[in-house]
Amino acid sequence: MAFSLCPQDIGIILTYRCHGRCQHCLYNCGPHWPQETMSPATVRDVLKAVAIWPHCPQVHFTGGEPFLDFPLLLHAVELAAEFGIPRYVETSGSWCTGDELALSQFTELREAGLQAVLISCSPFHAERIPPVRTLRAVRTAIQVFGRERVMVYLPAFLGVIQRFEQERPTPLSVYEEELGPVEAQRVLWWGYGLIGGGRAGYCLGRLVARRPAEAFVHDTCANEILHAVHSHMDLYGHFISGFCGGLTVGEWRALPQLLADFQAGRYPDLVRVLIDEGPYGLYQLAWNEYAFRPRPEGYADKCHLCVDVRCHLAAAGEFLELRPLEFYKRC
Ligand code: SF4
Ligand code: SF4
Repeated sequence: MAFSLCPQDIGIILTYRCHGRCQHCLYNCGPHWPQETMSPATVRDVLKAVAIWPHCPQVHFTGGEPFLDFPLLLHAVELAAEFGIPRYVETSGSWCTGDELALSQFTELREAGLQAVLISCSPFHAERIPPVRTLRAVRTAIQVFGRERVMVYLPAFLGVIQRFEQERPTPLSVYEEELGPVEAQRVLWWGYGLIGGGRAGYCLGRLVARRPAEAFVHDTCANEILHAVHSHMDLYGHFISGFCGGLTVGEWRALPQLLADFQAGRYPDLVRVLIDEGPYGLYQLAWNEYAFRPRPEGYADKCHLCVDVRCHLAAAGEFLELRPLEFYKRC
């Protein structure tokens, strides 16, 4: 039997704030979130929690934008190094406003024990972040860490974002006009591998053919929730399986109990529905008990449906699985 909740890579969400507020963000991050970051004591706790897995996952420090609180990021890297946990950082490069700053911060991180850097690069980011900053982040990270320790997600977009303004963000509509609808769908939706969770389905669902809720009747979420290789733990104590932003499967502070519960098949109510019946099951529950009605234009994918139902439920009742609540404030 495959074990539940055994991720290989845990994103430690140090803050949900960032400069971006990108249309494709699965965690609804942006500058509108409270000015809250993980406390240094919580960083220690979360790393201790990660270390309880027999095959310790690697961690990436992320957000939001983890560089918004650079001393905290540095501290987190030092602690992960002390604990012997493999570690990298994920950044959009929005903070890379000058060569000196980029060089000094990447160098400090390397000296603190950071092993690698992942830099996000896409037209969605370039709509919020001047490409010159992303390119500076890539160039400087390679200078400090070496090419083999710098990942760009996605490298194919490095060339694409350089076709437009370098010093200023470029609206996504400019990319869509240049590409045309068919290519926009191929390059932006499928090329990036977009998931309709977070705000992606709402903001970008127009890129693909939308389908009614009934189209997802057979789509369950057992794999995404139980066997995700990539999961997140946030500053508020939530364990978020897979890429299911806004859906907490439990508290990482009680990780041994959470793992035991999942291994025994004991799940929080909404999580059980998603595992067994997928978002269509959630939709039926919300229709029957909370007067949910679907969007007439339909949904880009099952995660778009899921988020739409969860937004309705979060407004209608008290569900501990639907956390952090700030995620649901701008549905
Ligand atoms: S995708 Fe990244 S940069 Fe964009 S809003 Fe989300 S966390 Fe911020
Ligand atoms: S439908 Fe919901 S639970 Fe399933 S993978 Fe998507 S966001 Fe996660």
